Amino acid sequence: MKIKFALLIFVLLIFTACGSTDNSTEYSKEFFAMDTYVKFTAYGGNAEDALELAEMRFVEMEAMWSVTDESSDIYAVNHANGNAVTVSEQTADLITYSLQTANETNTFEPTIYPILTAWGFTTGENRIPSAEEIKELLQNVGSEKVTVEGNSVRLEQGVQLDLGAVGKGAAGDEVIQILMENGITSALLDIGGNIQIIGQKNGADWRLGIRSPFGEGTVGVLEISDAAVVTSGNYERFFTDENGISYGHIIDPSTGYPADSGLASATIVASEGKRADALSTSVFIMGLEDAARFWLEKRDFEMILILQNGEIYLTEGLKERFTPNSAYDREVHVIEYEN
Ligand code: ADP
Ligand code: MG
Repeated sequence: MKIKFALLIFVLLIFTACGSTDNSTEYSKEFFAMDTYVKFTAYGGNAEDALELAEMRFVEMEAMWSVTDESSDIYAVNHANGNAVTVSEQTADLITYSLQTANETNTFEPTIYPILTAWGFTTGENRIPSAEEIKELLQNVGSEKVTVEGNSVRLEQGVQLDLGAVGKGAAGDEVIQILMENGITSALLDIGGNIQIIGQKNGADWRLGIRSPFGEGTVGVLEISDAAVVTSGNYERFFTDENGISYGHIIDPSTGYPADSGLASATIVASEGKRADALSTSVFIMGLEDAARFWLEKRDFEMILILQNGEIYLTEGLKERFTPNSAYDREVHVIEYEN
């Protein structure tokens, strides 16, 4: 047993040594799209051209999925007054995926947009809607009010779609595919804090800082390869009323009010960006208990939850991969498969 183990390490070392010389040239591209700051970094000879293609594709996806751009698929669907609209295959697929995720999670809700608007998150002019207004608007919220048949999408009157909680992840998946088709074996996409990575960096796992939801800096480091790592929280887009109560941009569709589940942030690690993105939003709404149950049931993702009191809960699969900063003074718990 011991000899086998030693041999494995030896082989790995040779392997990674080769990998690092191959990928020595670093290229990156920075731009603003999907309402956020985007940076793609890739290694290897073909990286520069591959990144060019990747940026073009990313901008195309933004043009399809923007809620505000009048020429987007989503804008057309949202302004069709109950009529069916033909959209691109990618848009139809992403809407279908969003509807499935809504069913699966009961918290992800792609028709939440009118509520988001009522709270002023779409305009920046924040306000607190009345309970009656929310009740009224909730009648137009629900995935069953959306029909997708092939490339044709129809919303019931008054219903509006918003792919804001899944679009960046889905676009990241497309970029990853383009980079891989162009021979890239090491890359990191930072799409407004959504991280998606190909392979390793110089033969070692990528070391990603997990942001503190309580201010500047990080709470610890995640060592990982080939993954999407997406965090949702209310610490970036929120407003505070005269009593000091804060209201965030992730809405619990069961109430129409900002999620208030006791979590300060939820980070999802999954193989696909769209999964990590959609689930980070859902899990943030679920809170610790429901999220742990959901993880046990699905097992196709891992997560790091930071509670409002600073305690960290991470799932078993990340136990060896996450290291809290030595100065981090709150408890770190592991959510396990059994017990
Ligand atoms: P961010 O885009 O800020 O990184 P998220 O991926 O969590 O964070 O997405 C939040 C956005 O998703 C909100 O700004 C809003 O557009 C939308 N949203 C809010 N609540 C929900 C919900 N329950 N389900 C789906 N989308 C939501
Ligand atoms: Mg999300």
